[in-house]
Amino acid sequence: MMRACVIGNPVSHSKSPLIHRYWLEKYKIPGTYDALAVAPENLEAEVEKLVSQNYSGFNVTIPHKEKIIALCDERDESAKKIGAVNTVVIKDKKLRGLNTDAFGFIENIKTAQPGLKLEGAAALILGAGGAARAAVSGLLDADVQRILIANRTREKAEDIAADFSTNKIEVIDWNARETALGDIDLLANTTALGMKGQPELEISLGNLRGNAAVCDIVYAPLETALLRAAKEKGNKIIPGIGMLLHQARPAFQAWTGTMPEVTPELEKRVLA
Ligand code: NAP
Repeated sequence: MMRACVIGNPVSHSKSPLIHRYWLEKYKIPGTYDALAVAPENLEAEVEKLVSQNYSGFNVTIPHKEKIIALCDERDESAKKIGAVNTVVIKDKKLRGLNTDAFGFIENIKTAQPGLKLEGAAALILGAGGAARAAVSGLLDADVQRILIANRTREKAEDIAADFSTNKIEVIDWNARETALGDIDLLANTTALGMKGQPELEISLGNLRGNAAVCDIVYAPLETALLRAAKEKGNKIIPGIGMLLHQARPAFQAWTGTMPEVTPELEKRVLA
C-alpha cells in the first residue's frame, strides 16, 4: 500500500496528486496521494506526523525544498549535487531525500527529441535557480561537453559553476545570451520568465543554429513565446510539461517498486 502526499505552501496548484493517483489506478496499486498545505514553521512537526502515520513518503514543493534537507537522514547523489530535495522516501522511520528534477529534465529531452545527441553537445542554460541546478546536473550526467549559464544575477550562476566544479561550465553575462546562441546545440530556459503572470523572456533567436533544440521548462502556458519563436524558425522544441510528468516517475517507483510510464492519457489529464 502506497501512502504519500505533496507538502508545500501553497499546494493546491500542484499536479502531483493527479499524476500519482492516475498511476495508482493504472497499475492497480492500492494507495492514496494527497496535497497537504504546510506552513514553514510547522514543517518538522508535520513531517513527524507523516512518519508516525506510516507514510511511504512525500513530495516537497515551494518553500520547503531546501529546508527539508536538514530533516533527512540521508540524501541521494542528485539531491546533494542540486542542493534540494523534492521527494522523500520513508523506511524504518528514516527519511531519504531524493531530487528527481534532473531525471525529469533529461527524460523530457530524450522523449520529445529522441534524435538529439546530448553526449558531446553544448548547451546554454538561462537561469540559475533550483531548476537550473537540476538541468546542469542532468546534462553533466548525460556527458555534454560544455554548459554556458546566463543569469540576470551573475553571482548565482558563478555559485553553480563553483558547486559543480568542472571546467565544462562557463558563466556568461545575461546580456551575452543572444551572441552565445551561435555556439550551442541546446538552449534551455529555466527562468520563470514566460510563465503565466511573469514577464516574457526577451531573446531574439537570430543567431541560433538551424539544428539546435530549444527547451522551455515553463509549462504554463504549454507553448511559451520562446517555443513558438523556435518553432517558427524551424528549430526542434521541447516543452516543459514533459519534465513535470517525468520527474514524478522515480518518486512513484521509490514508493511502490513500479516505474510508471508517461502516457498520452496522463498528459491529457494534466493539461485539462
Ligand atoms: P527559482 O529558484 O526561484 O529561480 C528563478 C530564476 O528565474 C532565477 O534564475 C531568476 O534570476 C530568474 N528570473 C526570475 N525573474 C526574472 C526576470 N524578471 N528577469 C530575469 N530572470 C528572472 O525558481 P526555479 O525553482 O529554478 O524554477 C524556475 C521556473 O521553472 C519556474 O517557472 C518553475 O515553475 C519552472 N519549473 C518547471 C519544472 C517542470 O517540471 N517543468 C520543474 C521545476 C521548475 P535571478 O537569479 O536573477 O533572480
